[in-house]
Amino acid sequence: MTNQELIQEHDKYIMGTYGRFPVALSHGLGALLYDFDGKEYVDFASGIGVNSIGHGNPVWVKAIADQAMRLGHASNLYYTEPAMRVAKTLCERTGFDQAFFANSGAESNEGLFKLARKYSRDKYGGGRDKIVTLLQSFHGRTITGLSATGQDAFQQHFFPFTAGFAHVKAGDMDALVAEAGNGDTAAVLLELVQGEGGVLPLDRDYVAQVAAFCEERDILLLLDEVQTGIGRTGSLFAFQQYGIRPDAVSFAKGIAGGLPFGGFLAGEKCSKVLGPGQHATTFGGNPIAAAAALVVLTILTEAELLEVGKKGQYIQEKVRAMNSPYVAEVRGMGLMIGVVIQGMAHKELARTLNAAGLLALTAGSDTLRFLPPLTLTYEEIDRGLKVLAPVLAP
Ligand code: PLP
Repeated sequence: MTNQELIQEHDKYIMGTYGRFPVALSHGLGALLYDFDGKEYVDFASGIGVNSIGHGNPVWVKAIADQAMRLGHASNLYYTEPAMRVAKTLCERTGFDQAFFANSGAESNEGLFKLARKYSRDKYGGGRDKIVTLLQSFHGRTITGLSATGQDAFQQHFFPFTAGFAHVKAGDMDALVAEAGNGDTAAVLLELVQGEGGVLPLDRDYVAQVAAFCEERDILLLLDEVQTGIGRTGSLFAFQQYGIRPDAVSFAKGIAGGLPFGGFLAGEKCSKVLGPGQHATTFGGNPIAAAAALVVLTILTEAELLEVGKKGQYIQEKVRAMNSPYVAEVRGMGLMIGVVIQGMAHKELARTLNAAGLLALTAGSDTLRFLPPLTLTYEEIDRGLKVLAPVLAP
């Protein structure tokens, strides 16, 4: 099959809900991908932050195959070993008490919302169920995920939304206190680096103030680490670099290196809030996805995560050193990098790069976004930058 043949049949039978790049991917190895015509691409996108250990890792492939032969699915009516091991590893590496497993980022955040509302209702009764999030945030495409999301662009067309969500400006502590300080708020939900919003890291002091405010009022501090989590920013979770301790944190994307898996971790305040029958999902903690996640967590040692930080710095420095008139700013944390583009449409630039052999993403209204595999090599980075440089040249 050629690229064109695949694209034609794909567009005929799959709904047009995505603005896809005209790239038909066949296979990959490490941080390199190949299309159906044999063309090679350097992957600075990793399936939107998912292929955390690159493509075709043989240990990951074997773990998936072995687990599929032993037990492919069981449901949560029974105990399975891989899920237990993933939960234990995550809790031991973060200090959280317990995990709940889901399948996607949106679904993981839904669990956080239920957790927060039940925590508040159990302790304080009704009327304290508001969840405050930030403008420019992104929390998923379900109706409640969109209700939590602070960006109009994603929300139009789908009203009415789930009640009880409010959005305030990032960095504005007064606005947060005004919205969440009236005794009607169950939780505040933050992305420490707003990914879809434009790779916007939150200010450390602001985050520390939000954490102190939440602690004082017994408002749960929830983090959406669907994009920042599982090593993306150079620590297992970004909050570990912010010096705060949330009450619960969601994750998904990179956890299983390419299989659908997600969930949330909860600390002592709220790990026992949801009881039997109060939250569930058929596939959550699926043995194959969990076996894949165990490989990812084994590869992403603390030493490997330090490398993520260094590689991120390297890319940022190299892009700045290009002195491109099209680059207004380079920012980010670890291998979550935003290049703010001026004098050119960022989406057009991404299309040019994809065609030239560098898979790159966009975010917000003007930002080019890189989310490469966390294990990519410096040689692969340099190959990607070699495609980028002429496109950004004056
Ligand atoms: N939360 C954040 C911060 C995200 O970046 C995303 C996806 O980009 C989501 C939630 C939704 O995740 P999913 O697409 O797996 O539902």
